[in-house]
Formats: sequence, C-alpha cells, structure tokens
Amino acid sequence: TERSLILVKPDGYRRGLTGEVLRRIEAKGYTLAALAVTTPTREQLAAHYAEHEGKPFYEPLVEFMSSGPVTAVVIEGEECIKGFRSLAGATDPTAAAPGSIRGDLGRDWGEAVQQNVVHGSDSPESAAREIGIWFPGLSS
Ligand code: ATP
Repeated sequence: TERSLILVKPDGYRRGLTGEVLRRIEAKGYTLAALAVTTPTREQLAAHYAEHEGKPFYEPLVEFMSSGPVTAVVIEGEECIKGFRSLAGATDPTAAAPGSIRGDLGRDWGEAVQQNVVHGSDSPESAAREIGIWFPGLSS
C-alpha cells in the first residue's frame, strides 16, 4: 500500500479543524501511520517547499507555515496520494469544489498565501521525501 504525508496547516489547526480532517481521512478508509503536532522550523519548511523557492509566494508561505502548530500525518492506503488530493480539492479554496476539504472548510482570507487548510504529497517521490522531513525516525 501507498503512504502520503498530510499537513493540517496553521489555519486549520487554529480553527480547530484537525479532527474534521482526520475524520474525513478515516471515513475514506485510509489509516493513520503516524501523527504529530509541531510548530515547523524554517529549515523544515525550506526542505518541504524547496520546489517553490524564489516564487513570489514563497516567503509569505514560509512565514504563514511557521506561524503556529501544524498536525503532520502519515496516511496509508491504496492510491492514497491521489485519493487525498481529491479529498483536499483545488489549491484555491474559493475555487475548490464543495464536498472537498478546501471547498467545504477553506476560504480566501485575503492574504498573500492561499490558506487552504491542508497539504498532501503529490507523488510517491514527494511522499517519501516529505515523510523523511516530518518523521525522520519512521521506517518506510
Ligand atoms: P499543497 O502542496 O499544499 O497540497 P498544492 O499542491 O495544491 O498544495 P502547491 O502548488 O504545491 O499547491 O503550492 C504549495 C502551497 O503554496 C499551496 O498550498 C498554497 O498554500 C501556496 N500557494 C501556491 N500557489 C500560490 C499562489 N499562486 N498564491 C498564493 N499562494 C500559493
């Protein structure tokens, strides 16, 4: 089975949506392999968002992501990478379809960054890389 790295971002954590996100993951049939509440360091975020370095939203993104606790979760299940991205919905919460996490729970807060409640890995390679960043002790 496949694994994916999920983050409930600081907006989701602050708004008390962690349980709701976990509920949807479990209701879909994915299992939780690891879970931690942590305030990300800039080093962790630089590694996690390396592909976005230099983009206009990069600094605001790192600022936002280090503004408070996140819940990092490793989920497990058949095709859970694609499946969770489908649960999450489009990046822009205003455009995300109703029924998705971002469509139901996210909105545009008028910031320089899309505060869109969750992150999910986008490929098996990213999942392996991201699990290593957030759970360095976890065997794969
Ligand atoms: P994630 O990787 O968080 O699941 P994603 O794959 O839909 O989301 P990415 O393109 O990887 O989005 O961007 C990472 C994050 O950076 C987004 O989730 C969002 O918070 C922010 N972001 C991306 N594009 C923009 C943008 N054009 N303007 C503002 N913020 C953005």
